[in-house]
Amino acid sequence: MQVWKFGGTSVGKPERMHSIRNLITADNGQKIIVLSALSGTTNALLSIAESLKANQADEAVEKMEHLKAHYDTFVRELYKTSEGLAKGQQIIENEFSFIRSLTRIRPFTLKQEKELVAEGELLSTQMFQAYLEEAGEASILLPALEFMRIDADGEPELDFIERKLREMLRAHLDKKLIVTQGFICRNPRGEVDNLKRGGSDYTASLIGGAIRADEIQIWTDIDGMHNNDPRIVKRTFPIRELTFEEAAELAYFGAKILHPSTITPAKLYGVPVRLKNTMDPDAPGTLIATKTSDQVFKAVAAKDGITALYIHSLRMLNAYGFLRRIFEVFEKYKTPVDLITTSEVSVSVTVDNTENVPLIMNELRTFCDLEEPDYDQTIICIVGNFSADNAGIALQVLKALEGIPIRMISYGGTEHNISLLVHGRYKAEALNALNEGLFALKEA
Ligand code: ADP
Ligand code: ASP
Ligand code: MG
Repeated sequence: MQVWKFGGTSVGKPERMHSIRNLITADNGQKIIVLSALSGTTNALLSIAESLKANQADEAVEKMEHLKAHYDTFVRELYKTSEGLAKGQQIIENEFSFIRSLTRIRPFTLKQEKELVAEGELLSTQMFQAYLEEAGEASILLPALEFMRIDADGEPELDFIERKLREMLRAHLDKKLIVTQGFICRNPRGEVDNLKRGGSDYTASLIGGAIRADEIQIWTDIDGMHNNDPRIVKRTFPIRELTFEEAAELAYFGAKILHPSTITPAKLYGVPVRLKNTMDPDAPGTLIATKTSDQVFKAVAAKDGITALYIHSLRMLNAYGFLRRIFEVFEKYKTPVDLITTSEVSVSVTVDNTENVPLIMNELRTFCDLEEPDYDQTIICIVGNFSADNAGIALQVLKALEGIPIRMISYGGTEHNISLLVHGRYKAEALNALNEGLFALKEA
């Protein structure tokens, strides 16, 4: 069995849903189809939530009606028969009646916000599965809220997901197409929750791992993982093969094509991940598994919104136990550290999640000197084959970045990654400079 995930733009228009149907029925294999919300819907729902939080019910209702009008038009083009259309309209009425009911709930809390934002995937999957039914395809809708669960730390409960999903699938062995929602899940309190923005990729991988799928396919609007961020850099190109480790680094360090955690379950269970382009299904895309090419520089990614903390030991030289004490503080506040650079008496670290930074700093101050943190930093991550025996690799990177101030450099953590910290204002310049300096670009 394969798991195929279609992102927002891949389901964002009725004709896209029509072409997805052709794609998923082109062969006879049984598939789990994971869908995101239609493009723009999650943002629209979050904007409605902002209005409700600010007690602006009229504004919220206006936004709701605007969004509903989009769905009313969408279903008129999606379905071919009057029965299909009636079914689609019923789905929209049901979901929007729930959405409207949220205006009556005061105060509007995070719990309601998560219920509201889940509506995007609840709408897209019901509409699509009804369309498959109208077209006579043997299909079923599997509610993700029944099998996708996270723990108190927001981590997926792998054992539960596997047990529950397998049990639910046993009842539908005759169905060729099993449609489910990406992104949404339940938390330990039984409330509706989610896997964070872009989380449908993660859903697909969690499902693929749980059922030991033959392959997980992530269908999006570009022909695979590019060597650099195509939103910022002009001449980027797709990479045909990546290892799980390389892809995980790129996803974690900002390659938006994949949710940062997507590769973890796929790698754990050894399920290959293929990135494909819905707009150009014949393009080869990217295969993420165990093979890679032996090029030195493979790809660059960038992660924004990083905070750098500068920590100095109060005792001078030879203070063992200092690093352990520092990292215990980060552990206590469940704050992952991304980059670390050290000297004998000082440590600089970067964090992505700043929620607990004030508490962390208060505690560090009891045994360290701290400088003012730097906010709005960007990690630039370069992935490739950086064998320790090869000379000149760091030189090439630094030469490409000549003229850009660098705050931290991390090299040697693995043979596959060089990471640097620059101020966010240099991100675009740094990505472009690395593209020119590290890749043999053919003239367009
Ligand atoms: P979906 O809605 O299908 O999940 P996303 O917008 O989340 O799609 O991801 C696809 C987008 O990721 C692409 O359109 C591209 O702009 C962006 N992107 C950023 N970095 C990369 C990269 N290294 N390779 C490919 N796409 C990237
Ligand atoms: N719809 C969610 C989002 O926009 C999840 C996803 O698209 O992967 O973040
Ligand atoms: Mg995405």
